[in-house]
This record gives sequence, structure tokens and C-alpha cells, in this order.
Amino acid sequence: MRGGQYINVARMAEFHAKEAPDRVRELEAWGAVFDRTRDGKILQRNFGGHKYPRLAHVGDRTGLEMIRTLQDHGIHGGIDFHRDMEFEQFHPTGMMWPPSVQGILVTEGVRGEGGVLKNSEGRRFMFDDIPENYRSSTSDSPEEGWRYVTDDKDARRPPELLTRDHVARCIRREVKAGRGSPHGGVFLDIAWIKEKVQNAPEHIKKKLPSMYHQLKQLTDIDITTTPMEVGPTTHSIMGRVKVGADTQMSNVPGLFAAGEVAAGLHGANRLGGTSLSTPIRSRRPPARRSPPSRGTPARTGPSRSSRTSRT
Ligand SMILES: Cc1cc2nc3c(=O)[nH]c(=O)nc-3n(C[C@H](O)[C@H](O)[C@H](O)COP(=O)(O)OP(=O)(O)OC[C@H]3O[C@@H](n4cnc5c(N)ncnc54)[C@H](O)[C@@H]3O)c2cc1C
Repeated sequence: MRGGQYINVARMAEFHAKEAPDRVRELEAWGAVFDRTRDGKILQRNFGGHKYPRLAHVGDRTGLEMIRTLQDHGIHGGIDFHRDMEFEQFHPTGMMWPPSVQGILVTEGVRGEGGVLKNSEGRRFMFDDIPENYRSSTSDSPEEGWRYVTDDKDARRPPELLTRDHVARCIRREVKAGRGSPHGGVFLDIAWIKEKVQNAPEHIKKKLPSMYHQLKQLTDIDITTTPMEVGPTTHSIMGRVKVGADTQMSNVPGLFAAGEVAAGLHGANRLGGTSLSTPIRSRRPPARRSPPSRGTPARTGPSRSSRTSRT
């Protein structure tokens, strides 16, 4: 109470003081390994304003130990966490060097403007592995790929613009096979377009201003003259909380999820540029949507009665 300038709700402070020790003992019984005194009791530490040392702790990672313990306990107790950990996306082109910037994104826009991926032998390895379900829509020559990025509607997309999961796997394959760049990635080259575009450096700076500055400032690489070293980097989660497609509602009554945390929309691989629109789209109140068509699978969601029982 004193620490709170006596504006605390006394009853809450009382509950906390009386019940917290039991909760600590409970955590211990469930497997939390708190730091110990020499004679085997739970070691308690001082924090600011405490009258007595009273902080049960686990080194400086007490919270982590609590989360681990609660998860273990919950899972063994058969609790359904209503979580649907789907897939984690690796963006194929994170910066590889220097270590201080490792993982920072090089936008897919670089490949969209004609940037190509090459291994240490100078080979555009993405042409070597085009998945069957994308074969008819993927160019089989660099020439056609270039036409695609310069807006020829009859051309097919270059293999560098295949889905992120596939491009990331292809890069890893090259690295594992010993054909990677010096720092464990591959080369992403936009400078080569000087063969096609007049005044290419200015063109690149105009189309990719942030990338130009990012690379120049952080790595002193001029992307208008020099290929970048890139490799897969963790990027986004394709959902954790299972929600109904029409309602964004989880199995927990009253709990809605939208955006990256909501599972289901992206399946096993999110396409670039779809994430920012996802939470915005979900803003639309369910009542304003047209009812689902007959036969739409209701993936999840509570029963009608629980839906109406809370807001
Ligand atoms: C480098 C990078 C580039 C990207 N580029 C693009 C792109 O070009 N186009 C695109 O579509 N997508 C892009 N994405 C993905 C996109 O940015 C995200 O998927 C999107 O922002 C997710 O929005 P969200 O609202 O679901 O989650 P978030 O934006 O992550 O918002 C969640 C919010 O919840 C807060 N929060 C977390 N825990 C708690 C808590 N316990 N209590 C209270 N608040 C909490 C967080 O602080 C955060 O503000 C990019 C992502 C990255 C990392």
C-alpha cells in the first residue's frame, strides 16, 4: 500500500499478498524450478520498496520458467489451447552480411524489378527447379522473364518470382551444395539490368529508393553496381488462433482474432503483400457481411447459443 501511495485498492492488495505464496507453491508442484537457499527453501530476493525479500525467482528469467511450467501443466492436463500453429514463413531474401544486419529484408520488389538470383557459379539456379503446378505460368528463359518484369502481358513470370517457400528452399539447396555466397547465402543481382535499361543506376534508385539507401548505409554496397548477398530469414506466422472464416471468432466465446494471428487464410505459405490487407479486411463487422453460402465449411467457432450469450 505504501509503495502505491495508498491509492491502491486495499482488497486487491490483500488478496495478492495472501494468495500469491500459494500460487508460487503450486507452480513449484507443477515443475517450476525456483532458485534455492542453502537449506533447500525457495530463495526470495529484494526488489525496490519491499519490506522483506519476497521475490521468488529463477535467475533473471522467472517469467520464462512460469510460461514453460504453465504450458507443460496445461498440455498434460488436457487443456485445449485453441491455438492452431500453422506455418512460419521464411522470406527468401534477408541480408546476409555484415552480421549486425543479418536477416533485415531485401524486399521482393527487387526481384519484381528484374533482380535475379545467382549462385557462386553465376548460374540462375531458380530455372533448375520449377514446381509442376507453376510450370505453365513460369518463364523458361531469362529473356521471357525480363519481358514479364517489363510488363509484357504475354510473358510468363521469372522463376525468381515463385512463392517464398519455394525460393527459400532453392536458396538453401544451393548453399548446402557448396554453391553459396561467401557469407552463406546466394547473390541477388539487380545491377545486371544495365544490359537492358539506359541509365540503369538512376532507374534502380528511382524504383527501389529504400533498398538503395538500406544497402548503401548498412553495408556500403551500391546495388546499382554490385550484387547483394541474401538468404532465407524468418518473416511471419501464418496464424495461431483458429477462427471461423465468416466471423473471425475463435472457439473461445467472445474472442476474435484478425490479422497475422488468425489462422487459416494463408494455408502453408502466405503470398507477399497480403498481410497488411488482412487485418484491415477483418475490420468489417460480421453482421454487415452476406451470410455464408450453403456448404461453406464452418472450420471452427462456438455453437450458436454461446455466440449469442456474450458480446
Ligand atoms: C520486415 C517486414 C516487412 C513486411 N512487409 C510487408 C509488406 O510489404 N506487405 C504486407 O502485406 N505485409 C508485410 N509484412 C507483414 C505485415 O507487416 C504483418 O503481417 C502485419 O503487420 C500484421 O498485422 P497484425 O495487425 O496482424 O499484427 P501486428 O502488426 O504485429 O500487430 C500486433 C500488435 O499487438 C501488440 N501486442 C502484442 N502482444 C500484445 C499484448 N499481450 N497486449 C497488447 N498488445 C500486444 C503488438 O505490439 C502489435 O502492435 C511485413 C513484415 C515484416 C516483418
